[in-house]
Amino acid sequence: MNILILGAGFGGLELATSLSDELGDEHEVTLIDKGEGFVFGFSKLDVMFNRAAPSDVFHPFRDVDKPGLTFVRATVESIDPVAKRVETDVGPFEADILVVALGADLDPAATPGLVEEGTEFYTVAGAFALRDVLAAFPGGRVVVGVTSTPFKCPPAPSETVLLMHDYLVERGLRAASTISLVMPFQIPIPPSPDASQALFAAFAERDIEWVPERMVTALDTDRKVAVCSDGSEIPYDLFLGVPVHRAPAAVIASALAVDGWIPVDPLTLETAFPAVFAVGDVTSVGTPKAGVFAEGQAAVVAAQITARIRDGGPPATYDGKGVCYLEFGHDLVGKVTVTFLSGEAPTGGLEGPSEAIAADKVAFGTSRVQRWFDRQWAVG
Ligand SMILES: Cc1cc2nc3c(=O)[nH]c(=O)nc-3n(C[C@H](O)[C@H](O)[C@H](O)COP(=O)(O)OP(=O)(O)OC[C@H]3O[C@@H](n4cnc5c(N)ncnc54)[C@H](O)[C@@H]3O)c2cc1C
Repeated sequence: MNILILGAGFGGLELATSLSDELGDEHEVTLIDKGEGFVFGFSKLDVMFNRAAPSDVFHPFRDVDKPGLTFVRATVESIDPVAKRVETDVGPFEADILVVALGADLDPAATPGLVEEGTEFYTVAGAFALRDVLAAFPGGRVVVGVTSTPFKCPPAPSETVLLMHDYLVERGLRAASTISLVMPFQIPIPPSPDASQALFAAFAERDIEWVPERMVTALDTDRKVAVCSDGSEIPYDLFLGVPVHRAPAAVIASALAVDGWIPVDPLTLETAFPAVFAVGDVTSVGTPKAGVFAEGQAAVVAAQITARIRDGGPPATYDGKGVCYLEFGHDLVGKVTVTFLSGEAPTGGLEGPSEAIAADKVAFGTSRVQRWFDRQWAVG
């Protein structure tokens, strides 16, 4: 059996590892990615706020070395889900089972003014470049704004304003600055009223302005004003943006995409095309676009594929559960456990924030690096 995984991010790495663990070298697993390595989403904030160096948070794909698994560096150009055939810049690949784990692409150019300002913190390049921008920032009006939905890791903008507060306090610039957060929601984390209340308390304590139910649709870079979806304007000296998200072009051009993302069976993650699965941010499965959900979905697809190959009993199905860590500043981290099941309102409680959960978050990252790359990761 020939299994082809497109995308070596959170979902693809977990799936490739699980399949290698389960199947060894009995079957061929090929993992394709256009990049040189993996960076956790949360590491972008660590680099931007100078809590880690770029080289500390980069995990090269050359370290992926597992039985039965071949990594190929290539850009996927088109996907034929009927033939299970993929065209890439290094040639075609064919599969018996195909899994699309290509994540979400980011499009700063879709928001007028965002590229000129150059300050988005969602791409690796954008977040890493902000490290120097923040170091040179003399203080002033900081606006963190979301430009569209859906967007990855919905807690990340809230984490960013709290970490920004600490950053400015440490540099003696907080009194000369204001911090505002523009979000499309009524509360910061809609599935978790508890986490949202804790964030509201943290914002109030730190004098962070919460601007709800709005998105930033453009930046007027001459006037240094963020223009919002309701027509209101917010002046800024430093704008930190969450750019527009879309599925990669090869996905949008394929028969897999419906309304911009890949619909899947919420229990098995199989697409409308037999033996073609999709996991993570590229899907419209209904969970937030976050690594923990991509990873949970990958584990289910691994079980589905293994059961199919071995003709075993009914495999595990997806439970929609994920644990999100939430940076509260002051080196404290909270933990939100949320379950998204179709037809039911998602619910999530908050644990912490505490130093113990901050240590849990470090262990979360180091355990994945050990599992996927077979090496130790000394963070920070
Ligand atoms: C600031 C920030 C903080 C975050 N914090 C957290 C957090 O604390 N916890 C959490 O769970 N999530 C967090 N996330 C979200 C998390 O990073 C993503 O949701 C997660 O990586 C999605 O996994 P995925 O496998 O679907 O896609 P990705 O991890 O994005 O992987 C997709 C892969 O596909 C590759 N690819 C794309 N197009 C092509 C192509 N055409 N050809 C070949 N390869 C291609 C890419 O190079 C990439 O390696 C955060 C995100 C951000 C931006």
